[in-house]
Amino acid sequence: MAREKTFQSSDDDDEPAPFRSSFDLNDSTFDDTLRPQRLCDVVGQRKVVDRLQIMIDAARMRSEPLGHLLLDGPPGLGKTTFATVLPRELGTECLITSGPLLSAPKDLLPHITNAGKGSVLFIDEIHRMSPAVEEFIYPVMEDFRVDITLGDGMNARTINMQIEPFTVIGATTRSGMLTAPLRDRFVNRLHLDYYELDELAEIIRRNAAKMKVQIDEDAANELAIRARGTPRIANNLLSWVRDFATVKAQGVITKQVAEDALAMQEVDRLGLEGPDRKYLETLVRIFAGGPAGVQAIGHSINVPIDTLEDEIEPFLLRHGLIQRTPRGRIITAIGLEHIGMSLPRQSGDATSGTLF
Ligand code: ADP
Repeated sequence: MAREKTFQSSDDDDEPAPFRSSFDLNDSTFDDTLRPQRLCDVVGQRKVVDRLQIMIDAARMRSEPLGHLLLDGPPGLGKTTFATVLPRELGTECLITSGPLLSAPKDLLPHITNAGKGSVLFIDEIHRMSPAVEEFIYPVMEDFRVDITLGDGMNARTINMQIEPFTVIGATTRSGMLTAPLRDRFVNRLHLDYYELDELAEIIRRNAAKMKVQIDEDAANELAIRARGTPRIANNLLSWVRDFATVKAQGVITKQVAEDALAMQEVDRLGLEGPDRKYLETLVRIFAGGPAGVQAIGHSINVPIDTLEDEIEPFLLRHGLIQRTPRGRIITAIGLEHIGMSLPRQSGDATSGTLF
């Protein structure tokens, strides 16, 4: 999500809870109220936490800024959380921007000149920065130097400006789309992976306490199973189930209440939602089970390719519901069983897209 804001270590703790008027499992407006504030509040990702702790301690002991850090992984796993926890731990300022907002060097310049010694500049979706901004950021990251070109053609001249050393934290869902020179400027690179069920259940229990709602152990486990390994989805499921429990069950979330609430939203036992099932059904109906290219599937179900590749396919692949082959995506026997469909009988060309 494109946003631009700054915070100082502790002055954003009292923000009111954003109002949610519709249900969207990938809605991130709800995140800010539940986001862990300190490293000790973060659940799971032990390897990442341990490495960050070393980096923080080393920066503190040497009184130097943290080395530039790249966080990569699917949406909703905690990249923004880690990026905003770090400056709090270090007691430094955090400036926040996003790749799509940076189309020309002039968009980045104010952030860089405002960054004090040791501050953190968090660039979300860094893979979406324009090439011109990317060129501009190289000397900034490497030598803390800004090169500004004045005029053009024969009269062009470059002036250099030295700036305070600071830390760039980049987040990306597509590390493969970063150019090698940009990737190499990050001395630290950390990959976030999907969460285990017990970690998600712990996040759900902690957040239920923050939301002051009572939840059974079994209900927390049930939500964890359906959260697709992703804390943001766990939070959004919990938010919906809390609304449901408030209206239908005196505010107490039991396993039965959770199941009824999720059934109403058509979140199935694996955590698949409408678009996920539509993907699988389209693969069977339109493409006879595949192979089908991601673009063709995207056009058929009217979902952007980025969303398919970042949010829908990773979970389907991880659970063996689909397979990625050089010729395209194919549905597996597990996928067919999950949606209760079978492959259409094929006549002639198997990949011609037979409808049945
Ligand atoms: P990303 O930036 O990778 O899309 P976020 O950092 O915005 O993901 O995480 C989404 C939400 O999930 C956060 O607001 C937070 O409530 C929750 N969350 C993410 N990671 C953790 C974690 N390790 N422990 C507890 N909650 C987490």
